[in-house]
Amino acid sequence: MRVLITGAAGFLGSHLCDRFLADGHEVVGMDNFITGSPDNLAHLEGHPRFTFIEHDVTREIQIDGPLDGILHFASPASPPDYLAFPIQTLKVGSLGTHNTLGLARAKGARYLLASTSEVYGDPEVHPQPETYWGHVNPVGPRGVYDEAKRFAEAMTMAYHRSHGIDVRIVRIFNTYGPRMRPDDGRVITNFIVQALRGEPLTVYGDGSQTRSFCFVDDEIEGIYRLFWSDYVGPVNIGNPNEFTILELAERVIALTGSTSTIEFRPLPPDDPRLRRPDITLARRLLGSGAPYLPRRRATPHHPLPPPGHREDRRHGADALTRLPEVCPWPPAPADPFPAGLSRGRVRFTTSSAPPPSSPCAPAFAPAVTSARFLRQYFCPAKDPILAKEFRSCLRNRSR
Ligand code: NAD
Ligand code: UDP
Repeated sequence: MRVLITGAAGFLGSHLCDRFLADGHEVVGMDNFITGSPDNLAHLEGHPRFTFIEHDVTREIQIDGPLDGILHFASPASPPDYLAFPIQTLKVGSLGTHNTLGLARAKGARYLLASTSEVYGDPEVHPQPETYWGHVNPVGPRGVYDEAKRFAEAMTMAYHRSHGIDVRIVRIFNTYGPRMRPDDGRVITNFIVQALRGEPLTVYGDGSQTRSFCFVDDEIEGIYRLFWSDYVGPVNIGNPNEFTILELAERVIALTGSTSTIEFRPLPPDDPRLRRPDITLARRLLGSGAPYLPRRRATPHHPLPPPGHREDRRHGADALTRLPEVCPWPPAPADPFPAGLSRGRVRFTTSSAPPPSSPCAPAFAPAVTSARFLRQYFCPAKDPILAKEFRSCLRNRSR
């Protein structure tokens, strides 16, 4: 199979390229680097089944040869990015979606749209199922992203209904992991970078707003399986473990052993107060019945993994039992920080009283609590100062 992935030089797009290549497919990546980086694809240079085209998808797209699938991931995704590029965000969600759908029609390709939990806006239903239509302010600053994605979903379904295009829509919830830009402005990156630099962690509002963070491997696996499924319509994919932003800040400080304080800043307009995916549909759809994952053939570049390897297990019974857990977090390892220690490290630098405690039970994904996560998280080449601080932090932690 030959697929086009737009936004290939971004955080999720680059992991998606890796996922398709790992199963023996041919990938054409496309990006204009507005928020992505060639660094994210550097490891694929010279790969015999990967080609890259630098192109703005809001302009007409020409691809030689057949295409069996198109995965439209191009779009600024971090709030500071889409607030910095409001027109480009609206264009990539509208014109970019139109162009890629037109290409899918011309090539007879299956189409997968990267949508977002932001289509639910500041939700009045919690957790959010796909049947909820959302609560979005179309004229607020976040509207450029939310409405672009809502339009993109509508356009995708219109192409399906009018032209019979085989479409999938994934509503992605907050995802984190390697290859995010340390300065991309999203909360996980901000907090870890601030903690490692000993700077105050910037909590917006009182920190009682909630999010549910998914590690990138799990998100990509879910998206990959959705692509191979036969379901037309939006599907939430994310981790339903929900916690407050203040809890996240405290945990990052504890984990890094940082001397950072917490500084409260104003809450940005229309910042969703609660967010947590209802993944009942994903669990049902992407379960053992889904016609996914053709076993790949060995190639000189990509030999088959040894029996029991993670990739191998995806094809066996293990994969099918693991699948209903779209976010298959294992039980959390013993917390290396004794109870109370983490809170004791946090000092509040503003006069604001600490916010009320969360309505939700704190549940930290083990990847967030493990030093291994932090080790793989940062790309030392991108930020040598940070990498140095990070290494010394890890040394201290292991004492
Ligand atoms: P990212 O900014 O790292 O990647 C987006 C990529 O799209 C970048 O490489 C950028 O240069 C490229 N791009 C933007 N406009 C383009 C254009 N006109 N032409 C060609 N390339 C263009 O963001 P990400 O986190 O990887 O997000 C990828 C997709 O997933 C986006 O569509 C986003 O809306 C969606 N999404 C992500 C998350 C998340 O938590 N990461 C959550 C919800 C939805
Ligand atoms: N946030 C914060 N401090 C930061 C960055 C973000 O408190 O330095 C908050 C933000 O207001 C939001 C949550 O963290 O409530 C998640 O923000 P992010 O930008 O990661 O993504 P969003 O879910 O808002 O798209």
